[in-house]
Amino acid sequence: NIDKILEYRVMPYGEKHLLLVARDVTRVTQLEEMRKDFVANVSHELRTPLTVLNGYLEMFNADPQAYPPAFMQKAFGEMTSQTRRMQSLIEQLLILSRIEASAERVYEKIVDVPQVLAAIQSEAAALNQDKGHEIEFTVDPQLRVFGIETELRSAFSNLIFNAIHYTPAKGKIQVGWRLRNKAAEFYVQDNGEGIAEKHLARLTERFYRVDKARSRKTGGSGLGLAIVKHVLTHHNSRLEIDSEVGKGSCFSFHFSTELTVVNSHASHQS
Ligand code: ADP
Repeated sequence: NIDKILEYRVMPYGEKHLLLVARDVTRVTQLEEMRKDFVANVSHELRTPLTVLNGYLEMFNADPQAYPPAFMQKAFGEMTSQTRRMQSLIEQLLILSRIEASAERVYEKIVDVPQVLAAIQSEAAALNQDKGHEIEFTVDPQLRVFGIETELRSAFSNLIFNAIHYTPAKGKIQVGWRLRNKAAEFYVQDNGEGIAEKHLARLTERFYRVDKARSRKTGGSGLGLAIVKHVLTHHNSRLEIDSEVGKGSCFSFHFSTELTVVNSHASHQS
């Protein structure tokens, strides 16, 4: 559709000629469509839990005494999980917009990644209680990077929590933070369900999920990998995904040698 690609006007030019002025608006149109999709997605994601909450509230309001305790317990359980879903979506949206608007400079602070990972490790253990995965952390204690701690924390935790969610119970997850070819490397390897090749290119788009219903059930907002992508772009890096259906996935990224710092003080201590 030419109207979507070009914006054009035809004007008289002298007595015998016409002048055609055309402007390529492909990018403008794409951005406008992305914005509309984003608003539609956010509205949809918020409307679904609100519909559930509203349904129960109307029922209770019409006849508060009518329901047996077992039903009430189920209803409150569902209302709590829908409320949590909205909370997590709003938190993820705020993180995403903060990263997008951030003018913080990456080279101003050194991040103690082993410490950040230790905090995530205990959150992961709590999340792993139902799943019973074997989770192995291999962390080089001396390795630091220049970066923004809150952003890096989001990137690491999103990848680790996804591995826990998308690996069937009693799986094996390996998390690593190491020096490789003088650059810092982070990886999360799981032996979970894996991702078909056709999905890989779109996986870091906001709200893109391989299986919407499953992702919602695990409490996923569909924004995790979009956050990871933004954080890594901010740190001049990018996400690499290696995956095979039924075998598992490996998500990894590298920091350039300029961002990588090996802490000699920590090395004396160890
Ligand atoms: P969500 O909140 O749905 O987890 P993400 O942006 O974090 O959103 O991930 C997008 C989609 O990528 C997920 O819905 C899931 O289908 C897929 N995915 C992410 N991590 C993994 C993984 N380790 N194994 C299999 N699929 C994954």
